[in-house]
Amino acid sequence: MENRGFSELGDMSPGEFRRVGHQFIDWIADFREHLDEIPVLPAVRPGEVRKRLPDQPPPEGDDFDAILSDVERIIMPGMTHWNHPAFLAYFSITGSGPGILGELLSAAFNINAMLWKTCPSATELEQQVLDWLRQMLGLPSDFWGIVYDTASVSSLHAIAAAREYQSHLQIRRKGMAGRPRLPRLRLYTSEQAHSSIEKAAIALGIGLEGVRKIPVDAQFRMRPERLRQAIREDRQRGWLPFCVVATVGTTSTTSIDPVSRIAPICREENLWLHVDAAYGGAAAIVPEMRHVLEGCDQADSIVVNPHKWLFVPIDFSAFYTRKPEVLRRAFSLVPEYLKTSEDPNVENLMDYGIQLGRRFRALKLWFVIRYFGVQGLVERIRQHLEMARRVVRWIEADPDFELMAPVPFSTICFRAHPRGVDDETTLESLNQALLEQIHATRKVFLSHTRLKDRFVLRLAIGNLHTRRKHLEHAWTIIRKSLQDLHS
Ligand SMILES: *Cc1c(COP(=O)(O)O)cnc(C)c1O
Repeated sequence: MENRGFSELGDMSPGEFRRVGHQFIDWIADFREHLDEIPVLPAVRPGEVRKRLPDQPPPEGDDFDAILSDVERIIMPGMTHWNHPAFLAYFSITGSGPGILGELLSAAFNINAMLWKTCPSATELEQQVLDWLRQMLGLPSDFWGIVYDTASVSSLHAIAAAREYQSHLQIRRKGMAGRPRLPRLRLYTSEQAHSSIEKAAIALGIGLEGVRKIPVDAQFRMRPERLRQAIREDRQRGWLPFCVVATVGTTSTTSIDPVSRIAPICREENLWLHVDAAYGGAAAIVPEMRHVLEGCDQADSIVVNPHKWLFVPIDFSAFYTRKPEVLRRAFSLVPEYLKTSEDPNVENLMDYGIQLGRRFRALKLWFVIRYFGVQGLVERIRQHLEMARRVVRWIEADPDFELMAPVPFSTICFRAHPRGVDDETTLESLNQALLEQIHATRKVFLSHTRLKDRFVLRLAIGNLHTRRKHLEHAWTIIRKSLQDLHS
């Protein structure tokens, strides 16, 4: 072992870092090159990975070869490979080459961008790269952006800003508890909204009863007339409506709420309009898909996750608001030791959120946009949309399968519905068994949802390594699994 004497209690030496680093990049390059030769799903039982790890931490250091060999021996067998081309579950994502290198550099710099002064490049790159992304998405220039870790946290900040926007309630200062004259706040979102909206309501003292779920139409989109009706009803009953969360690309079916019809209602009623476009927003960089964000120029805030469909390694959530001063009012609290002489002239990003410390996340989005270019990103998303249309054609052409929802993006909801089998209970158990059977191969990973009380399979395309051959293979496995179950 090099440089492990007690005379020098420093870090890994430059020489060792260089040697191990080269070896490590080679390992990652091999992993990426050969990923589709190994199963996407692991074959471990619960507790099996942990059992292979020592009960106690190592008293003495190990060399890196030993550590890397344990990655192969202990960690790899328990991996669900999200970067695998046959990962078609949930929303398929990509830790792309430039994105991985961005993460590496960010760890090497290890800055904390809480204040402009604590790393000017991090704050300024973040603001500029988010402005690039804003332009790519076709959002107006009065949208101000900040990076949070996830869409759940972005939406939490949006709803906190929406609450602060009702400034007469003085919730920042007085809180909500023990105030009998404080009206109960109500937030509106569709039945198909992501669970993070309800979680935010729990965290912000709105409570689950403070979230009113608006019914959707046959294509799973929020019905604006029902929203209007609900707000009117609630006001009559003494609730205080304060926020609407619309979704562009819902989690189950990727349906698109009619934001351009919801926005005027919010304006008339003085409600904050937040748009959750965590997955679907990215598609708006494609000119012929720009319409998915129609009406979002009138929103107060919007979230898009580059870690979902813009090839940035998790985590990276881009949050935009036209009222950054309200967000700042909700969260800014500056103790003496964090005051700087530049404060009047700079953006201190810690003022716009719960967290003080902030990673240098902007590097990885910058690398991704620089490396692929806007046109390259557009073409990649276009290719995913095209591959999804192909899979839709296979499903439509197969008499034993049926499509269960429209496909506005690259996520497909379908199920097996063999000829002559029309009993819903049978179809339910058949499709559940089908998903199990597909996963037992470990070669393709799909997920499921429930639509109109039916068990539905979901296939999401969004990984840069997914090619037509992977989808053909997945479709073969799906059909073969059905044959095995139903013959
Ligand atoms: C994925 C998703 C989320 C949650 O995203 P995180 O970044 O994991 O918090 C929220 N809303 C929608 C519509 C999503 O697709």
